[in-house]
Amino acid sequence: MIPGGPAGAYEWGMTRTIDRDAIARLLAGCFTGSPGPGVVPGGRTEALRLLEAYDPSGYGRGRNHLQGPVSRLSPYLRHGMVSAVEVRDRLRERFGADPARLDEFFRQLAWRDFFSKVLAWHGRGLEDDIEEPKHPVPRERRLPLDIAEGNTGLPCVDGMLGELYGGGHLHNHARLWFAAYWCHFRGLDWREGARLFRRFLLDGDTASNFSSWQWVEGTFASKPYFMNRENIENFSGGSWCRGCRASCPFDRSYPELQRILFGASLAPLAGLGGAAGVPGPAPEAGGDGPAMPPAAEIVWMHDGAMSRESPAVRANPGSPVVFAFDTPAMRAEPSAWHRVAFMLDGLDDLAARQPGSPVVVVAGELAEAVGRAARAAGAGTIHLDASAEPAVSEAAARLGERFRVVEHAVAALAVVEGEPRRFSRYWEKAAPQVTGRRAERGARWHR
Ligand SMILES: Cc1cc2nc3c(=O)[nH]c(=O)nc-3n(C[C@H](O)[C@H](O)[C@H](O)COP(=O)(O)OP(=O)(O)OC[C@H]3O[C@@H](n4cnc5c(N)ncnc54)[C@H](O)[C@@H]3O)c2cc1C
Repeated sequence: MIPGGPAGAYEWGMTRTIDRDAIARLLAGCFTGSPGPGVVPGGRTEALRLLEAYDPSGYGRGRNHLQGPVSRLSPYLRHGMVSAVEVRDRLRERFGADPARLDEFFRQLAWRDFFSKVLAWHGRGLEDDIEEPKHPVPRERRLPLDIAEGNTGLPCVDGMLGELYGGGHLHNHARLWFAAYWCHFRGLDWREGARLFRRFLLDGDTASNFSSWQWVEGTFASKPYFMNRENIENFSGGSWCRGCRASCPFDRSYPELQRILFGASLAPLAGLGGAAGVPGPAPEAGGDGPAMPPAAEIVWMHDGAMSRESPAVRANPGSPVVFAFDTPAMRAEPSAWHRVAFMLDGLDDLAARQPGSPVVVVAGELAEAVGRAARAAGAGTIHLDASAEPAVSEAAARLGERFRVVEHAVAALAVVEGEPRRFSRYWEKAAPQVTGRRAERGARWHR
């Protein structure tokens, strides 16, 4: 452990794996759960193994079923351990003789690209309503205790929360159900739900997460999304519903639910449980700069670019790679440890497979921590992969006041200019670039 307390740094290399207890001390107050191995292995090597093993046959028919043939690639895509372009190209190589087998998968993959464009367009504005709410009623901004504890009394909701808290993953359809439950059945504010997801999901991000919550709430869609029991039962395989003795709020027809949830006279079923405590901010410790190998240029590897194939790493072989944990942000919104462990796997993988590039972990306010590492190395130039994530782009701008900052472009699935408003419009332009064919009309997303 390099001295400097919570604002210090940790360096390791090929000969050993990262000391998770030391990182846990570095991140004190920034995470929930116990330090140790994660629930799903992270890292580029694992991402490539998963990609090689994945067969998208039957994806179009089965993807909405919880047991359907989905890829589970999103945590790796979100952290840049593998890119969407790589996934598209490798699946084409393997299954290109039968393009129809790939179309629906590519269309879903393109949602990630679409949402990253939404984030690039709106920046921090994505954390607030993009459009007027279609059902404008007051929403409560809190995390109710029964949801925090995964104990709402509804086997389906508690089952989803168990997966979220324990495994850091939820199928897309379960995310939709949970978000609809949160917003429309509990009358809670979508922003708090999105923050809960960002803390626990292995793929938790701003772009796909906040956009999707807005889609469910109806502030980024022409109408709110909701479901009924029949839909949950059909697509979940029925196991939650079979033994359920709860009074089911979803057990009605769509028109009835529509009237109950959105009718002028009836408010959503609001407010069970109290507010859950979120750990308050801990005082920021001072500390010396990290021990850095001398270098004229360093690579700042942010949490969306964790790959030895990242353009910034490839352009700077042998340069020290600095990874920074944004501890003020993590104290305000503590991550589940499994999220931290997933990233540490990625760094271990990098250190093991990128001989010659020392990997250094620092913690603190992003621009401050990366700047300190650059100064300690004596570096005048900081390279990073371009990112629409506001925390990264804002820190890069601040670093630019004191260093030469080089942002390396990351290949996108599609180039589509202008404000991204609806996926269907985007897809008309993106489909030929993503699939090599024109978009089919009338295809639907979630239901
Ligand atoms: C309320 C809500 C919150 C969400 N939060 C996140 C999030 O924080 N991070 C995140 O990466 N995704 C999020 N999603 C999108 C989606 O649920 C996940 O990307 C998907 O479930 C990942 O599982 P998979 O890799 O097995 O997907 P697959 O079905 O195998 O799809 C392949 C890839 O396509 C992309 N993709 C598929 N469906 C979607 C979609 N609906 N939106 C965006 N990209 C998609 C993902 O990159 C995914 O890895 C959210 C969706 C909802 C409804």
